[in-house]
Amino acid sequence: MALFQLTDKGLYVPLGDFYIDPWRPVDRAVITHGHSDHARWGSKSYLSTDVGKDILRLRLGPDANIQGIAYGERIRMGDIDLSLHPAGHILGSCQVRIERAGQVNVISGDYKVFPDRTCAPFEVVKCHAFVTESTFGLPIYRFRQDDDIARDINAWWQDNRDHHRLSLLYGYALGKAQRLLSMLDTSIGPIYAHGAVEAINQVYRAQNIPLPDTRPLSDTPDKASLAKDGAIVLAPPNSINSNWIKGMQAKSQAFASGWMAVRGQKRRRALDCGFVVSDHADFPSLIATIDAVEAEQVFVTHGSSDILVQFLQEKGLDAVALSTMFGDNHEQEQDFSTSEQIS
Ligand SMILES: [Zn+2]
Ligand SMILES: [Zn+2]
Repeated sequence: MALFQLTDKGLYVPLGDFYIDPWRPVDRAVITHGHSDHARWGSKSYLSTDVGKDILRLRLGPDANIQGIAYGERIRMGDIDLSLHPAGHILGSCQVRIERAGQVNVISGDYKVFPDRTCAPFEVVKCHAFVTESTFGLPIYRFRQDDDIARDINAWWQDNRDHHRLSLLYGYALGKAQRLLSMLDTSIGPIYAHGAVEAINQVYRAQNIPLPDTRPLSDTPDKASLAKDGAIVLAPPNSINSNWIKGMQAKSQAFASGWMAVRGQKRRRALDCGFVVSDHADFPSLIATIDAVEAEQVFVTHGSSDILVQFLQEKGLDAVALSTMFGDNHEQEQDFSTSEQIS
């Protein structure tokens, strides 16, 4: 039985009188993570994980009323028992578990099952009703583990270094950039971070996430020496059009995103290289997770929901699409419209 309903402000839990990731201002908001399509400005109070609080603070400003709780800690909200569990998506991201009279619902938010050095691993939480994302809910989406991806990225970087080219690696400033940073082989050369990325790096380091040392781009003596030194720069995707980058001569540019799995993305952005790195579950992980939580009802949201719903129904599951305003390409949207918001 679903303990929530979809309203024009977002997912509402009437028995607890709170919203989960509301898209309009509300009195009480429970936030799964700090990406801008989930953590929106203007609500009277916010509840998140302890570890995710500082990211939310950066997003929502110094005056926002934010309460943090530990993963797994149970609190009462109205007639609902609530706890937050790791979603493996970015630092501090959580699934929301709500319970009333033995009925358990889990709202996953965005999640990833593959291990990631920069956040707590996804936890399987058994429930009667499960709300799952489906950003990459098509059978064509199969992602690789970080160690494999890291090998490719470091080989590209090393090759650029050998040819005295600057490596420019673009990734969404919150979450993706830190995960990429954690994969870099520091023996290859110096690592520089764009200001938007460095602001989030500092939050991660304060939470004791081990990240290689980065130098601020503003410290750069001259552009030519960056290429000569074989440096790599981590930058948000929208900086690709900046004058600073346009003015760089010897460079190789790569974008890291789940959408790099889609043919044509690389060419459209005039990149030399693309790495498929997603902070969302791929298709086999979505199916395995939905099996593991043993829910009687599955609600599918974000992205390719219709196809995943049909797939689950054919497996005999009670699955429906939960329409949201996010629509398709939701990670891509974040990459291009919001990565500069934190700077
Ligand atoms: Zn997200
Ligand atoms: Zn999302």
